[in-house]
Amino acid sequence: MSWAKYKKKYRPLFRRPKEASWTKKTLEELSYVKIKDLRLSISQSSLLSQAIKEVLREWERLGFSWQPSFWLSTEWYYAEGTKGVAIPFYLAHPHLMALEKYLIGRIEGKDKEDIKKYLRHELGHLLDYAYRWRFHKSRRQLFGLSSQKYPISYTVVSHSKKYVRNLPAHYAQSHPDEDFAETFAYYMKYRTVWRKKHKSGTLFKKLSLIEELVKMAPVSQPKNLSGFRPGKVNQINLSLNAFYLRRAYDCDITYREIEQKFYGMTIKDPFLSLRKDLKKWIEPLAIPIHYKDYLLHRYHSPLFKNKRVLSLWRKGDKRALKKYVQNEPLKWLKNGPFYYT
Ligand SMILES: [Zn+2]
Repeated sequence: MSWAKYKKKYRPLFRRPKEASWTKKTLEELSYVKIKDLRLSISQSSLLSQAIKEVLREWERLGFSWQPSFWLSTEWYYAEGTKGVAIPFYLAHPHLMALEKYLIGRIEGKDKEDIKKYLRHELGHLLDYAYRWRFHKSRRQLFGLSSQKYPISYTVVSHSKKYVRNLPAHYAQSHPDEDFAETFAYYMKYRTVWRKKHKSGTLFKKLSLIEELVKMAPVSQPKNLSGFRPGKVNQINLSLNAFYLRRAYDCDITYREIEQKFYGMTIKDPFLSLRKDLKKWIEPLAIPIHYKDYLLHRYHSPLFKNKRVLSLWRKGDKRALKKYVQNEPLKWLKNGPFYYT
């Protein structure tokens, strides 16, 4: 489907926002606009505002007297120590949602219900951190240790009854913290009815624990949270084309595809051979291969910006480069603050 068709298809879903001047640009002109210059805000999107409003209503029903904050950034995440959730900026404008869908092929938050799934998930991370639930004995027994390393890839039991399904790719099965955030998201949505569906078993225990933790939590805001909003959209000094060329790799889309779509032509990629090698060496580490997205996101992208990788590549020392890439412990995973996606 062409860009023009995507724009047409997605536009009617939302109330027409106040037109910003960049919306009149051609796709190529738009590709050079810096994200901070898009002048985006949550309030300009009725879709986002509505999703947040509805999730906050659910939040209130959980009994908390304080409110989390929400801001636009490059992707969905919860940054430890903050009191809110970062939302991908493209959700703030139908034009950018269409662009995301056109370039990446899917949208994390394709409609209001989908956005609410992500919001609840990130709020799960927030509460897990804020109230230190992750150190609770039963939380550790049922979900596992928060300190467990994030794996390069994860194996999925597709019909497992031990996990909820909220986000795609059986994300709950990737790590104890993701399992917790996913189960919390499910609980938040089905707070009054989940007991009808789950009467025993692991999931029943997990949901019961979350219910108990929520009920026992102090209603006031925990003191360990700051109002800092890292990665705010108005500070992102990247053009859309630079952003999408980076993002393409996280999403396992080729640099060429993105350029083709932006400009209808390919510009020679100076890093093409390095990109190919990294892909070739890292992909076999992913089991099963369907979770390549996850692997590339967690490992490949930071590697590509790694100075040692770039210097070995420039020297042409392929053996050393391969060894480094495949054995390098995931040091960057330990560099705090940890960002949950
Ligand atoms: Zn998460």
